[in-house]
Amino acid sequence: MKYQVPMGMKDITQESKIYRKLEDNFFKILLQEDFTEIRTPILEDKSLFIRSVGESSDIVSKEMFETKDGLVLRPENTAPVMRAFVNDQNINTKLAYFAPQFRRERPQKGRYRQFYQYGFEIINESAPQSEISSLLLIKRIYEQWGLTKYEFQVNYLGDKQDRENYIKTLTDYLRGVESKLSKISQERLQSNVLRILDSKEGEDQDIIKQAPSILDSLSENSKNQWQNILKLAQLVGLNIVINPLLVRGLDYYTGMVFEVVDTSGQLGSQKALGGGGRYDSLSKELGGPDVSAFGFAGGVERLILALNITNLPLSETKIGLITTEESVLSSFISLKAQFPMVKVDINYNCAMGFKKMFKRADKIGCTKVLIVGTQELSAGVVKVKDMVSGVETTISGSIESINLSNI
Ligand code: AMP
Repeated sequence: MKYQVPMGMKDITQESKIYRKLEDNFFKILLQEDFTEIRTPILEDKSLFIRSVGESSDIVSKEMFETKDGLVLRPENTAPVMRAFVNDQNINTKLAYFAPQFRRERPQKGRYRQFYQYGFEIINESAPQSEISSLLLIKRIYEQWGLTKYEFQVNYLGDKQDRENYIKTLTDYLRGVESKLSKISQERLQSNVLRILDSKEGEDQDIIKQAPSILDSLSENSKNQWQNILKLAQLVGLNIVINPLLVRGLDYYTGMVFEVVDTSGQLGSQKALGGGGRYDSLSKELGGPDVSAFGFAGGVERLILALNITNLPLSETKIGLITTEESVLSSFISLKAQFPMVKVDINYNCAMGFKKMFKRADKIGCTKVLIVGTQELSAGVVKVKDMVSGVETTISGSIESINLSNI
């Protein structure tokens, strides 16, 4: 019998280099910003997610993989990170992860049952500092990955009371048009009314467009906080798009929520690259101290789709060193040892001839080739061939003086 990989999951082999590079680059920035990597268990108590993400969310109501003893494969990493903080409040309050998550979803492009998320949580830092510094941090992370076609969509959910007021206003409005709503939204009217704003059903669209805005249900205090965030965004030149319909499906959010939305068109209907927001009541909800928190998580598979692999600035330079001169071989070997971070392939072969050595270098993916033949040796130069453009240049000086990381 031939076993198949489970539905909505995949073996990552060819792409593993990309995952590795994305993860390394992610942590390079996060560690520089004083975050600590956190690796929580893959299994957690089911009740952790019921308590945090919420009973009526899609994740909890139908997407968790459950074991016999009440554990689930984690569907997201914010609640586990907060659980870890509540368990040990001495840990760093800036925590980051790059880890697989599991949701029993109907697989489609950009939607899988096992997917990776990169994310971070900042505990005990209040608005508007976390909001704006987090968006700037995310911008920096995407910039170094080479992603430019996206926008930040933001909304403000206020505090618990604002949210309750809004749910009431929205429910009243939707009850008035209930019979025109899609079947699924009619069901959500009973269970999770905010999720109706996320509906993609055709018959719901006009109703949603005319729905009351949450921004009108905010208390004076919340309105001020929201204005402070917007002011700071403007002062630092951060472009954001206000989307009053953005509520995100999870229960724990308060204050600002946001999504990073792809604008390249590569992602089809699954356009959200990532999302997050403030969740000030989560620590307390999980039995911890009353501390504020703000977090973000993005999906790796969607990022790879958005980057459109061929555009990835991840293609490493691999340098071929080729010579027909035995005396040059030792210089090649020392040069390779001197630059351990650069990929180098040495080819010394007096019988093969340069043409064949070029062919071989091309085949194994060398992007640049340094050539030292009899002529170069006597002239004291090194020839460099760019294998992509075919352009040849000459560098004066001996092979020993070459800085491989600048080639
Ligand atoms: P969420 O907290 O559900 O908004 O998830 C944050 C990000 O994780 C999303 O914006 C996606 O990029 C990614 N994501 C969520 N669910 C999936 C999934 N089933 N497959 C792939 N990526 C996902």
